[in-house]
Amino acid sequence: MNEAYKKNQEIELDIIDMSHDGEGIGKTGAFTWFIKDTVIGDRVKAVVMKTKKSYGYARLTKIIKKSDDRVEPSCNIARACGGCSLQMMSYSSQLRYKENKVKNNLIRIGGFDSSYIDKIYEGISGMEYPFRYRNKAQYPIGRDKSGNIAAGFYAGRTHSIVKCDDCLIGDKINKVILDAVIAYMNKYNIEPYRETDGSGIVRHVLIRKGFASGEVMCCIVVTTDKIANLDKLISMLDNAADIKSIVLNINPANTNVILGDKTKVLTGDGYISDYIGDVKFRISARSFYQVNPVQTKVLYESALSYAGLSGGEVVWDLYCGIGTISLFMAKSSRRVYGVEVVPEAIEDAKENARINNISNASFVCARAEDIGSDNKFEKPDVIVVDPPRKGCDSKCLDTILKVKPDRVVYVSCDSATLARDLRLLCESGEYRLEKFRAVDMFPQTGHTEVVTSLVKVW
Ligand code: SAH
Repeated sequence: MNEAYKKNQEIELDIIDMSHDGEGIGKTGAFTWFIKDTVIGDRVKAVVMKTKKSYGYARLTKIIKKSDDRVEPSCNIARACGGCSLQMMSYSSQLRYKENKVKNNLIRIGGFDSSYIDKIYEGISGMEYPFRYRNKAQYPIGRDKSGNIAAGFYAGRTHSIVKCDDCLIGDKINKVILDAVIAYMNKYNIEPYRETDGSGIVRHVLIRKGFASGEVMCCIVVTTDKIANLDKLISMLDNAADIKSIVLNINPANTNVILGDKTKVLTGDGYISDYIGDVKFRISARSFYQVNPVQTKVLYESALSYAGLSGGEVVWDLYCGIGTISLFMAKSSRRVYGVEVVPEAIEDAKENARINNISNASFVCARAEDIGSDNKFEKPDVIVVDPPRKGCDSKCLDTILKVKPDRVVYVSCDSATLARDLRLLCESGEYRLEKFRAVDMFPQTGHTEVVTSLVKVW
């Protein structure tokens, strides 16, 4: 606690920045405040909640002057849900906020010169319609305050569900499917799972839709597969929507991990197919697949153009998932090697190569940091990395510096760890940051994807 401020004391300040989670940031003197539900450009009154030595949290009580960037959120529960932390900003200001965040991280953490960063920045690709873009939804099922079975989200620190079955960044089919599952539960007395005592059956409904193929998969996560009238569930779902595959995932554990280890296919093949560009992908309930297919195409096309392929190159795709980027690049190169830690994803990657008749892509299940520079792959001309938020392991960066490809394409979902890793690659004197661009894969949220191109210094 900082002595200068007391709980519930009122402060008045301008919001000048925004945190990673979309909280507004303002200052009183040198002291920094995080205030939810505020937007850069607002002048607000707030009351002190808690403080540390140099920063604190306060609760918004009044907006004295509205930021020009403020809009009314399209979703009436945006504030309570918290999933879309930027919904009260206009879309153009969201994009501006994201590009500033990326540039600032490259300057502050990456150590790059700010005028150089401005010069090599190629812009942010936003969406024409920044809603209804997610191809995947996972809704918890429980009871609302009045005791009705509902799909939605848990209100902060409670065990009751706030009903929200038509999330605006998800597809319209979600509500149709959720209505059918809940109607079945009500009709046949199937209880939702209760995390307090582990009773009940239905935990989550997970829906995936291939936007290009139109195929839909519905996965119902349950505590047991011994459920009465499963045939009725299937017919009620089939009557409600055109569903390619219905599966049960069995998760009896007392955990907040959504999926269990066992999946039982009720109808269809247990997977759907989708296309990005003209590459076809098989997606099962458990595999990682980018959630915004429209922007994924933009992202992969950027990565492909940054790779500068002319047909004869060898490419390593590290952190390859189900081989999406690898297969996207295979047609323009001589050979691609994909490396990924999840065995099921590697199986999917191999199957995806097969269904696309791509024979010059090989996939290996390993950690990117363990492949080393003396592995059996042909020496690469280009290395693509697309790590999770924590960025590349330093051993992986060492491998890149040892094998010295002509180009490195770094695809990142966290510009802070990206900046840290680029700094290491560029300060070695071996690589130069040539250009970068951002792709807004997650409109209304604070996240951004970035593609960067590094070239070998000779
Ligand atoms: N390029 C893919 C996947 C990107 S997500 C796509 O666009 O779809 C990052 C991937 O890295 C995930 O599939 C995750 O399983 C994998 N991963 C996480 N840690 C890893 C590691 N240490 N080595 C290799 N792969 C890893």
